[in-house]
Amino acid sequence: MNKLYKTLIYDNEVSLSVLETTELVQKAIDIHGLDDKSAELLGGMLTAAAYMAGCLKSERGAVSMTVKSGDGSATVSVSGDVNGHIRGYVDGGENGLKGGTLTVVKDDGFFRPFVGACELKCNDVAENLMQYFHISEQIPTAVAIGVKVCRGKCLAAGGVIMQLLPGTSEENMDKAEIAMQNFVKVVEVVQEKGAEGIMNTFFPERMNIAGTSISFPEYKCNCSRKKIEGVIMPLGLNELLNTIKEQGSVNVHCHYCNTDYRFTESDVLKLFKD
Ligand SMILES: [Zn+2]
Repeated sequence: MNKLYKTLIYDNEVSLSVLETTELVQKAIDIHGLDDKSAELLGGMLTAAAYMAGCLKSERGAVSMTVKSGDGSATVSVSGDVNGHIRGYVDGGENGLKGGTLTVVKDDGFFRPFVGACELKCNDVAENLMQYFHISEQIPTAVAIGVKVCRGKCLAAGGVIMQLLPGTSEENMDKAEIAMQNFVKVVEVVQEKGAEGIMNTFFPERMNIAGTSISFPEYKCNCSRKKIEGVIMPLGLNELLNTIKEQGSVNVHCHYCNTDYRFTESDVLKLFKD
């Protein structure tokens, strides 16, 4: 089962998140039919999205992240909401990322969304995310995210993320840095112990106390026929009927869940009658 533990450690000066996203990544592989390299790239980003979504406060909060490689050969897009519903897609992931940008849009549902961006340092999702937090949000963050895929099967995916809260003492910074050494090969640790095992082994004093939360992120798209209707209706009846005349139907594809929505002439006429 996918899991996200969140708690505060070291005199409540460091926020800790522990993620297990193996099933979430497997679902992405199954939906998109991904090769292993693409799966590792998208899986890392989905895990990052699960973390970011877990940090949202508002009921209507949502976050999306897009990575574009410098030469335009690869794109990864993921998003998540406050309910832990995570989704994403990847194009050209087999090419890897050779530089490029990471763009993050965080919407708390009330004010204007926060948009941050940074240059990609490398192919590694965790490194890039760390860079993003340092540059764009100015929060010192240690990120270990790993995904292991073999021939279409996700063997393990997850991560450990620590953020220093304002005013963290030197001593607790050092503690956090030392603790992160346990997660240099985080995917191996997730595979061996799972998120619960990581908590029990490394942070046992934080288990089963009020300040520690557990949630269950999952791969879930929020598209629906009703939503797609809302997307096509502004095109107008004439435009839609023209498309149907040319192509037989109006077809909309959701990249996130690989679902095709098809609207025939009678579907469209009914839409505008209601
Ligand atoms: Zn969808």
